[in-house]
Amino acid sequence: MLVDSHAHLNFEAYKDDLSEVIGRCLQEQMKVINVGAAYDTSLKAVNLALVEPSFYSAIGLHPIHIYDEEFNVEHYQDLIRSSKGRVVAIGETGLDYFHLWQSLEKGVKDIAAVKAKQAKIFREHIKLAQQNNLALIIHGRNGKEDKTAYQDIYQVLKDEGATRGVVHCYGGNLAEAKQFVELGFYLGFTGIVTFDKTGGLEEIIKWIPANKILIETDAPYLAPVPNRGKRNEPAYVKHVAEKIAEIKNKSVEEIIEVTGNNATKLFNL
Ligand SMILES: [Zn+2]
Repeated sequence: MLVDSHAHLNFEAYKDDLSEVIGRCLQEQMKVINVGAAYDTSLKAVNLALVEPSFYSAIGLHPIHIYDEEFNVEHYQDLIRSSKGRVVAIGETGLDYFHLWQSLEKGVKDIAAVKAKQAKIFREHIKLAQQNNLALIIHGRNGKEDKTAYQDIYQVLKDEGATRGVVHCYGGNLAEAKQFVELGFYLGFTGIVTFDKTGGLEEIIKWIPANKILIETDAPYLAPVPNRGKRNEPAYVKHVAEKIAEIKNKSVEEIIEVTGNNATKLFNL
């Protein structure tokens, strides 16, 4: 079963042709988890999942949006309650050290304050996931110079006793990857694997056991080769599976099956 474990068909990028994009997902007989980044996109993800049986939703406030709106836990709790079981994860949540300057433009006094607020809201998401017995979808991104985002995420997860979720669009190093897997987390890989020239992702994919891998598009972003630069969509996730199969010297059918089973198990699909 082909599963795109992280897409945003709930975003504006699909407002003109959403039904065609959904049609292509149905053609692939795939499952898709649409992930919220703020309250409105979380609500949209839930609503999509309520009308389309092969779609599921994750709800949360992305760390880059924490100065745009308040993280109102009660509102998210209500959304879970009214979703008829179609919310399968909390996220995306986490720490983003790449976009810290954007938060400073919104009137925050210094970087330390931004980081502290991100961490506080991340912890609130973790508690919400634990209280509702849901998986976490974690976003991490290092800064250009500040490479501590994944270490800090690991520390928060450990402190909070979190063991269930995925570190999506994994961008940490191999040592950090080993720590997350040891804690019980899956790692999610996007179309970046098809054009990464650093060799960093390849090294991690060679090491990681197939039963800890999730595949994802992060659509509309990060379209894999051969669609690089275009708007991404869930059906393209098979190109991610193909590249991982090539790196791990396995058949693409096997990678699709294992990663589909992983997603089914993690999110109770
Ligand atoms: Zn995303």
